Amino acid sequence: MQITDIKTYVLQYDLDKRLGYSQKWFKTRTAHLVEVRTDEGLSGWGEAHGPGTIAIANKAIIENVLKPYVVGMDPFDVELIWHRMYNGIRDYGQKGMPLQCMSGIDIALWDIMGKATGRPLWRLLGGKFRDKIMAYGYGMLFRDSPNLAKDFADEAAGLVRAGFKAIKMKVGRSVKEDIELANAVRFAVGSDILVMADANHAYTPREAIPLGRRLERLDFHWFEEPVAPEDYEGYVEVKNALDIPIAGGEAEYTRYGFRELIKRRCVDILQPEICGFGGLTEYKKVLAMAMAEGIPVIPHVWGSEIALAVSLHCVAALPDMPGAVTPTQPMVEYDTTPNELRDHLAKEPLNLLEQIKNSDGYVTPPDHPGIGIEPDDDAIHKYRIDK
Ligand code: CA
Repeated sequence: MQITDIKTYVLQYDLDKRLGYSQKWFKTRTAHLVEVRTDEGLSGWGEAHGPGTIAIANKAIIENVLKPYVVGMDPFDVELIWHRMYNGIRDYGQKGMPLQCMSGIDIALWDIMGKATGRPLWRLLGGKFRDKIMAYGYGMLFRDSPNLAKDFADEAAGLVRAGFKAIKMKVGRSVKEDIELANAVRFAVGSDILVMADANHAYTPREAIPLGRRLERLDFHWFEEPVAPEDYEGYVEVKNALDIPIAGGEAEYTRYGFRELIKRRCVDILQPEICGFGGLTEYKKVLAMAMAEGIPVIPHVWGSEIALAVSLHCVAALPDMPGAVTPTQPMVEYDTTPNELRDHLAKEPLNLLEQIKNSDGYVTPPDHPGIGIEPDDDAIHKYRIDK
């Protein structure tokens, strides 16, 4: 089988109201889909992480810089293709956008392998360790509001009513305001729900540590990206000062970047963005490194139904860490904010919200060959901005 072409599609639409987190406000949603075509008529789909204008720039990287390394290759040669691409861009971009582009292509190759062999991605990754995966509901983003604490509390209570047993809220406004928001959410959902806080690296260790202590008292389940992704020593400082697990990694790239997070023991939970940090081929390497150091992995998810499905397969195929009769189970991240590029993209949607409602907060990975998500032509036509 030979790869004949790569097509990319930047999908975008406007939200009714702007939403925010500690680094920015946004009023559009974007997804950048990558289609790798072959001479046998099979196409694979991937997704390259990166919003808005980043996706527009990434399209040019895929089509102009990476495509020549890939066309003519056999899609089963994922290692060969990954290293050809990386060696081609290494001198110019070892992190960030070029890696997002490589990820989108790499994921599409795995989709082709799955379709060609009639096997779901979780089987290509070595088999399913679990059929039921708890989804955690990511929500509680900043918005324009006269009473954000009340909004957060109402939204959190709504997620619990929708079936979620675990939820994640944004922090990173100021330590004082974060504590008020965290209190409101904990009070709204009671003590049985797992609650996580995500600062999107808004703080220095001197701010993150006292905030983390307050989150501990509210029995929060983890504290995500407390400090800047480049500040490895800051991570260690925060982690050593606190009992609450520290999560991070969504802004880290490749085995080389993750080597620092893992080797220096910066985090208790590693959150690779598979559509951004290097794709599935690189994920296997980072997973092996994390397991060798005993650091659990829970992939970061942001994007279309393709990104969500990739993460579901990966979590299904995650070995127990560590093994036990009743091992601690990984979760899958589910973004509960409005996202038509997830809900209206696939010919056969995953309908995870329905599963969450009916299965006590749990979802099951898809069994279709490959990633199991085939984008609908009409949806692509409707949302595409790069025609
Ligand atoms: Ca995050």
